[in-house]
Amino acid sequence: MEPGGGSSRGMIRRVAEKAAVTPLTIGESCGVFGVFAPGEEAARLAYFGLFALQHRGQESAGIATSDGNAITVYKDLGLVAQVFDEGKLASLTGDMAIGHTRYSTTGSTVWANSQPTYRDLGDASIALSHNGNLTNTSVLGQQFDRSGASTDSELMTQALAEAIEAGASLPKAIATVAPEFEGAFTLAIMDRKTLVGIRDPMGFRPLCLGALGEGWVIASETAALDIIGAKFVREVSPGEMVVITSDGVESHFPFAAAQPQMCVFEFVYFARPDSRLYGEEIHSARRRMGERLAEQSHVDVDIVVPVPESGIPGAQGYAARAGIPYIDGLVKNRYIGRTFINPSQSMRDLGVRMKLNAMPGELGGRRVVLVDDSIVRGSTTRQLVQMVREAGATEIHLRILSPPYRWPCFYGMDTGDRSTLLAAGKEVADIAEYLAVDSLAYLELDGLLAATGAPADGFCTACLSGNYPTDVPMTADKFLLERS
Ligand code: SF4
Repeated sequence: MEPGGGSSRGMIRRVAEKAAVTPLTIGESCGVFGVFAPGEEAARLAYFGLFALQHRGQESAGIATSDGNAITVYKDLGLVAQVFDEGKLASLTGDMAIGHTRYSTTGSTVWANSQPTYRDLGDASIALSHNGNLTNTSVLGQQFDRSGASTDSELMTQALAEAIEAGASLPKAIATVAPEFEGAFTLAIMDRKTLVGIRDPMGFRPLCLGALGEGWVIASETAALDIIGAKFVREVSPGEMVVITSDGVESHFPFAAAQPQMCVFEFVYFARPDSRLYGEEIHSARRRMGERLAEQSHVDVDIVVPVPESGIPGAQGYAARAGIPYIDGLVKNRYIGRTFINPSQSMRDLGVRMKLNAMPGELGGRRVVLVDDSIVRGSTTRQLVQMVREAGATEIHLRILSPPYRWPCFYGMDTGDRSTLLAAGKEVADIAEYLAVDSLAYLELDGLLAATGAPADGFCTACLSGNYPTDVPMTADKFLLERS
């Protein structure tokens, strides 16, 4: 159905040039949501759920609904509030829905890569939302028909479609096909009558289960439950598949058991501070990271200043533990986000100034500890340091709430290849010199893991340690620097 128009099964609106035959893209870390809410307008619930997951992806947003007879999908490039309005939500009828917010590299910001994906299989049609990245797409591409697939998410949808066309129910198809997938995949999938949530066996990306009246909700983060008044039930376990129908929730474990490896950057950066993972509130964990960093790398300064927003709780923890005043010396231009209006070249040259502004009244004449969550490429941090210096800070001591980011991610965080990572192959002193800071200290890995409050062996730390929990294509362009 064209939203706002008549009703025909599974029609989706195309608003931009479909990509030609494109390579499978990687580099997505997204928000997924699903709701089964008898008697409710599921699209409206999904809209607000996606709103709470907007931080996980700003490239595109989409919702698929089912009224029991047909699936309707609407998706487009843009923020959730830009993509949907009352008319579009009203046309997405039914009491079951899945939704998606997508983060991607600039080069693959095309409508065709937005989600949910959809396959018209008649009465067995499916829609799918994915967070994560597969690491074996080339193998899967030989196993399944990849001709219509421009992303790993499309390829998974195709694999499921082939199993369903061979006669399997949706849960059976997932249980059969998903063990073929390797890497990171948290999925919300539905057909006309069944909603399924699943996490890969290592649980790289999160998923939680909530109850809403007579219905059920699945979401990347607990904040998406809170916004619609759903009650948190539990986290979906790594390797678990929850099947939600009018009969309730069934739990299945279709994979061989594996050691959980949640992405530690969910704690450092990705997740909202008010979300809970491994039973721990993220804000509290980030405060503890700052406390440990203060213990590990104390320096005599006048004020502690966060880089908004993910550096804020860590800076609060640092300041409290060090007994140094906490000052908001940088202000974020909150609504710059993804404007879709391209800045002029001269504006682009302003770099970080488009996003943050420094306050000379707070920073002038002071020795500053500047706290940020991480440094990946470093160019933004360098500009930021310069901006704080120009605002009058007499000393800048940079403190980072995670260890040096030295290795590329294959599981859903687009950080480019090794040659683009500032810390790859460099000593901390070299990095400090490049950033032009008076001192630089990173939180050590043990301290980071302890600060999460969760079991230390339950995390992927590959980008920080070089220890990958799965096979990864070591010949990939991402490893342009030699492993060292
Ligand atoms: S490599 Fe880093 S960013 Fe990627 S999943 Fe592992 S911890 Fe997260």
